[in-house]
Amino acid sequence: MNREDLKNLWFLWKAVYRQEKKTMCMVILSAILTAINSYILLVLLGYIIDVANRHAGQKKMMQIIIVTLLIKLLIEVILRWINERINKVLEEYPQEFATRELNRKALTFDYQHLEDPHVQDLRFRSFQRSFYGIGGWLMIVTQSMLKNIISMTIAVVIMIPMFRLNQIKIGYTIGIVSILLVLIMLNYVTGVNNTRKAMNTYFDASNLYNKKLFYLDLFSKIEPQKDIRVMRMENAVFHDINKLFRGVQESEKKQGELYVRRQLTQKTILNISTLLIYLYTSFCAWARLISIGQVVTYAASMSQMMDCANKLAVGFGHLKSAAMYAADYREFLTLQDAKYKGTIPVEKRRDCKFQVEFENVSFKYPGSEQYVIKNLNLKFVIGKKMAIVGKNGSGKSTFIKLLCRLYDVTEGCIKLNGIDIRKYDYKEYCDLFAVVFQDFSIFDFPMGENIAAASIYDKKRVKEAIDKVGLNTLEDKLTQGLDTIVGKECCSDGVNFSGGEKQKIAIARAIYKDAPFVIMDEPTAALDPEAEAEVFEGFDRMVGNKTAIYISHRLASCRFCDDILVFDEGAVVQHGNHEALLAEEGLYGKLWDAQARYYA
Ligand code: ADP
Repeated sequence: MNREDLKNLWFLWKAVYRQEKKTMCMVILSAILTAINSYILLVLLGYIIDVANRHAGQKKMMQIIIVTLLIKLLIEVILRWINERINKVLEEYPQEFATRELNRKALTFDYQHLEDPHVQDLRFRSFQRSFYGIGGWLMIVTQSMLKNIISMTIAVVIMIPMFRLNQIKIGYTIGIVSILLVLIMLNYVTGVNNTRKAMNTYFDASNLYNKKLFYLDLFSKIEPQKDIRVMRMENAVFHDINKLFRGVQESEKKQGELYVRRQLTQKTILNISTLLIYLYTSFCAWARLISIGQVVTYAASMSQMMDCANKLAVGFGHLKSAAMYAADYREFLTLQDAKYKGTIPVEKRRDCKFQVEFENVSFKYPGSEQYVIKNLNLKFVIGKKMAIVGKNGSGKSTFIKLLCRLYDVTEGCIKLNGIDIRKYDYKEYCDLFAVVFQDFSIFDFPMGENIAAASIYDKKRVKEAIDKVGLNTLEDKLTQGLDTIVGKECCSDGVNFSGGEKQKIAIARAIYKDAPFVIMDEPTAALDPEAEAEVFEGFDRMVGNKTAIYISHRLASCRFCDDILVFDEGAVVQHGNHEALLAEEGLYGKLWDAQARYYA
């Protein structure tokens, strides 16, 4: 175990402690009491044998027996009470513990981390391992290690008188203790080696375990089933699954063999040491250096010590693998956000007069050398509808990501009311935008919560949003009104909605948010022509006096906008209303003509 391992473990331990202070204290107390408890009878037995041999002090002996047994009983009652509580926590807690912190991090870290393959990997590994209950496992390992360390210490304390026997050559005791230490070391080294090999075998197979999760996910989703059936992919899937299970079986067999080998070595070493201990203590008793009672106490203490050393070796192996898990967990949770977090509050204005301006903005995606936005200058006209058109890949969606600060600009600056948007409190800044992304997400939540993006919401306003986007025609589908679950994947009495209906739900969500800026990225892509016309006609009503930005590659759908920006390779190449742009020679006219041929 190196320094980094210890740092990772300490990080994980602190995280577990932060969340489960009381349980961790109980774990420590339980370890101490368990260690003490295991010696009470041992010491008592040695005492009883000696008193019985001397035929003396029977009454006192009875008193000591009763008091000791009462103490043992009390310890056991306390232990049972503590352990029941610990077990209860462990039953509920392990899977949830790490996932709670990981979820929080995954939902709040910089958006750009999401597109970094290393972070993706890290996220997957951390989540997968948290699933196996790393927090609870660490508690169990902590308890076991602590118990064994305390137990070994007690054994050494009990054996101290052995080193003080002046009649015996101290060399014998030192000799036997040295042999035991060598056996302990041998046990430790073989134990740790073996555990490492078992862990490596497990990690070598981690891709297989990941794939097992992939199939679990595949079988729980409806979407891929269409491809499997229609494209006749079942044989390919079965073939892959069989290969996967053969791999998992082989890895588990290897892990099992290593486990058996480890047990065999451990037991052999333990038996040899027990034999040595009993030979030595019997020799001392034969030489009348110690009493029969002491033979029992010392021999049992030494065996206990060996057993604890053994378990510590296994514990170290476990700690080593916990450290490997902890490494991913720590790296993920300590990922640094690059985004500057401003603190200026956003002015609250009922009149929605927020002026946004792009000043010489250029942008390239992290890790890419290519500029996708080039020296962009533009000013939104407050309360007007602006359209952005252009070919695929011309930078339209990237423009929205920059506006919403999912990414920060590489050069130049975006200003809100004259102040760099990076200086504003990010959450307050986000409150200014209601966005329907091209790849919007609808969750398996009740309809009302999906639209309000909150679990407590204003039903009247949700219904108004539903009316505005024309979802009110779906009354027979909304069997439980706003409580109807959208989608069937997580809830059998949920309701499936078509792509177009889902798009309307996403638009309703933007309307409900009632933010000063409404941004729609291809908002009608999944709508049929009738529904599209409905959205356009209702657009004025939907956005009211707000500033609207409307992105589409269908030029006809942008005609109703006051101002149209034509994007090409990350730059604005034309600017004006529909008629003015058509009158010019340029990209807009070309795109218009090309589309007119298909839509005519
Ligand atoms: P549009 O919305 O106009 O179709 P985008 O803004 O999505 O275009 O993309 C503009 C350019 O940026 C494209 O060349 C695209 O390949 C590239 N791009 C988009 N997203 C990323 C990303 N996450 N990383 C690197 N390049 C990207």
